[in-house]
Amino acid sequence: MDLPLLEKTLAASDQPRFRARQVWAWTARGATSFQEMTDLPASLRETLQRELPFSSLTLRDEARAADGTVKALFATADGRPLEAVLMRYRDGRRSICVSSQSGCPLTCTFCATGQMKFARNLTASEIIDQALHFRRLESAPQGVTNCVFMGMGEPMLNLDNVLGACERLPDLGIGHRHTAISTVGWIPGIERLTEQDMPLRLALSLHAADDALRSELMPVNERYPLDDVIEACRAFYARKRRRVFVEYVMLKGVNDRYEQALALARALARKREGETSIFKVNLIPYNPTGSPYEGSMRASIAAFRDALLANEIPATIRLTRGQDIDAACGQLAARAT
Ligand code: SAH
Repeated sequence: MDLPLLEKTLAASDQPRFRARQVWAWTARGATSFQEMTDLPASLRETLQRELPFSSLTLRDEARAADGTVKALFATADGRPLEAVLMRYRDGRRSICVSSQSGCPLTCTFCATGQMKFARNLTASEIIDQALHFRRLESAPQGVTNCVFMGMGEPMLNLDNVLGACERLPDLGIGHRHTAISTVGWIPGIERLTEQDMPLRLALSLHAADDALRSELMPVNERYPLDDVIEACRAFYARKRRRVFVEYVMLKGVNDRYEQALALARALARKREGETSIFKVNLIPYNPTGSPYEGSMRASIAAFRDALLANEIPATIRLTRGQDIDAACGQLAARAT
C-alpha cells in the first residue's frame, strides 16, 4: 500500500487523522481489501477502493515448491520486475526474503540477479507490499515471523527505503530482532546501520577470505576491501552487541579448500581469548544459475564447516529451500513481463 498516497487521499476527503492508522492496522493484520475494514464509513471504503490501489505491486506469477516455499513475481506500477520468497519451517517459523531493488547494480559473478538489468531502487511501500502479500497468505496462526533482505538488490544502496520499511515490519508481527539486512560489505551502509536505533541484524556476504579471490567473485571488493569490511562489522558488534552473520556460498574448487577455511577462521577470529564470537558463518550450498560455477560437494561443505568449528568459529550449513522453483539464494532473476 502506498502510505503517503493513502494519507493524501484521506486528507483530500477531509477525514480525521486517525483514519490512516485505522487503515494501516487492518492492512498490517492481513486484510485483503478496503471492504473488510468494517469500522470505516462505507462511503470512505468506496472512495479508497476507487482511488487507491490496495498494493503498489501487481502479482504476476506465483510458484510453489514441494517443501512449502512460495515464490512471488511482482511488477511495480511502472512495470519493473521483482521477486520475493516465503519459507515455511517445521518449527513454525515463517520467513520472508524480500527484494530492495529491481535487479542489482553490483555484478557478483555467481549471482543470477547480478546478470539481469538493474532497474531502480524500490520504495518503502514496494518493500512493505512484498511482506504484506505473504502476511495475507499466512494469516493464521502466527503470520510471518522473520524477514531477511536477501532477495534482489543491495539493501545498503537503498538504505532510507529499507529502514523505512523496517520501521513498519513490527506492525505485521515481524520484530526488528527477527529482521536481517544482508550486504556485500558496503561500508557506509554498515556504518549507518550501526548508528541507528532499531535492533536489526546484519549479515555479510563474504564468500572468500582473500582479497584477490573476493574481488574476482565480487568486484565491489575493489572498493571496500575485506579487512575494512570486517572492521566495520566488528564496530557494528561493539555498538549493538548483535552477532553478525557471515554468508559464504560454497563454490567447487574455488573457495572450498581446507586452507581457505583456515584463512576464513583467521579473518573472523576473536581479538581476545575467551570472548564470544562476533561472527557466525552460514555456509550456503550453491544454487545453479547458469553461471560457470559449480556447487561444492556435500562432503566438502561438511569438512569446511568442521574446520571452522575446530577453530572456534560457529558455523552451520544453510538448508536450501525452494530450489525446484528457482527460489533459492541467488536464483532470483525475474524478467520483465
Ligand atoms: N546484495 C546483498 C543482498 C542479497 S543476499 C548481499 O549480497 O548480501 C543474497 C545472498 O545469496 C548473498 O549472500 C549472495 O551471495 C547469495 N547468493 C547469490 N547467488 C547465489 C547462488 N547462486 N547460490 C547460493 N547463494 C547465492
